[in-house]
Amino acid sequence: MSPNPLRNIPSVNDLLESPPLRKLVDGLSHNVVVSTVRTVLDEVREEVQTAASEMTLPSVSDLAERIARRIAQREVPLLRPVINATGILLHTGLGRSPLAEEAIEEMAAVARDYASLELDLATGERSRRILAVEELLKELTGAEAALVVNNNAGATMLTLSALAAGREVIVSRGQLIEIGGSYRLPDVMAASGVVLREVGTTNKTRLEDYARAIGERTAALMLVHPSNFVVVGFSAAVGLAELVGLGRREKLPVIHDIGSGALLNFSRFGFHGEPVARESIVAGADIAMFSGDKLLGGPQCGIVVGRKALVEQLERHPIARALRVGKLTLAALAATLRLYRDSEKAQLAIPLLRLLSTSVENLKNRAERLAPQMAAAGVVEQAEVVAGVTYLGGGSVPTQELSTWCVALKPAGISVDRLAAALRSGTPSVVGRVQQDRLLLDLRSVLPRQDTQLIVALEALCKAENGKRKAEYE
Ligand SMILES: *Cc1c(COP(=O)(O)O)cnc(C)c1O
Repeated sequence: MSPNPLRNIPSVNDLLESPPLRKLVDGLSHNVVVSTVRTVLDEVREEVQTAASEMTLPSVSDLAERIARRIAQREVPLLRPVINATGILLHTGLGRSPLAEEAIEEMAAVARDYASLELDLATGERSRRILAVEELLKELTGAEAALVVNNNAGATMLTLSALAAGREVIVSRGQLIEIGGSYRLPDVMAASGVVLREVGTTNKTRLEDYARAIGERTAALMLVHPSNFVVVGFSAAVGLAELVGLGRREKLPVIHDIGSGALLNFSRFGFHGEPVARESIVAGADIAMFSGDKLLGGPQCGIVVGRKALVEQLERHPIARALRVGKLTLAALAATLRLYRDSEKAQLAIPLLRLLSTSVENLKNRAERLAPQMAAAGVVEQAEVVAGVTYLGGGSVPTQELSTWCVALKPAGISVDRLAAALRSGTPSVVGRVQQDRLLLDLRSVLPRQDTQLIVALEALCKAENGKRKAEYE
């Protein structure tokens, strides 16, 4: 009878006594180490039992190394900072807009301590959390009232549920948008309990189309900014002012989903046709809603502004409670909005606006400075400075190009995909875009303070690659 191999597997205590793990128990946490030891021992038992032939058991020190590596991996957060060298300024996969220092400071301050979230410090009475941003939003948009929820999808669901559940909302067929796979307006409307009443055609919708569809069951008229596409050629859409005229005559609220939520006119950055929140209110929208982390350059949230009576109706709906934002979001948003009180200040302090207004000469100079340093890295055969075009992303101004400069890296000894992957998973992490056989690092979305970090990332990568080659050779 052959001896049971499971009996030769080291015990939890044997492993905890091994030097690498003893150090981790002291430095990190007894519980974390013990639970990882158990998990890895379970895996080894499984391997032994399913092995086709007799296998040699790993030694105590091999196992301890394996466990220590596992613990080290888990200690690195999966959500971590990334240098965005894709050139796409509002990259949803990379968390859209970075925050202004002012926003970070205010957020950190209320994160560290308790905060006056729902307490009026003057009277000691209970207050409402929206007060942190309400006056600023009213001032910046001209609206009577404001509400902030988790994101614009949430703002849309709340608005529709509170104002129109069980009834019809009229929308043009040209505006039934999809924003990334998980947001499709018809589905959001259905989930809000609203009946979608489509009018017009894909390319042309007229005011009479809306007027004819109005009936007993109509609850609202809705206008949606078709953020990520444009219809050109034989096309017509109804403007907000016209729709507001119809809404007033029929006593129906007009809901305007303006999407990216610019607080200032983006024509100063060369982008035309992006709706500005204040203009929507001035034109008479009863409710206007937009994202906080697109063109506004703030934290993820959905902002609703509009008539007081309607916003109050939204506040009272149970979904408002389910979608409410926490103190971190409110602090970051308040600080960002405060910067907008002076548009010059906003342009300097809000990273998104700063990146947008960086001159092409500046990008070119930086690319020229970086290229020779990058070419000196072992994994790079050639680093060339190239001009290019990029887009804002995040579902805004889809056809308007933005000039940019990139460093195009041709790898040495490894494939371009391996270079891209290694830079992504390195420290610092850098995400570029692969174009044919080169990796482009686009400076349009790189903050100047990150330039040297790009070099650090490449040098770290060379070290890691050398280590791997050495290991393969041995
Ligand atoms: C981006 C966008 C949304 C979704 O906003 P989130 O903040 O991502 O939920 C909804 N409507 C329009 C028009 C948009 O552009």
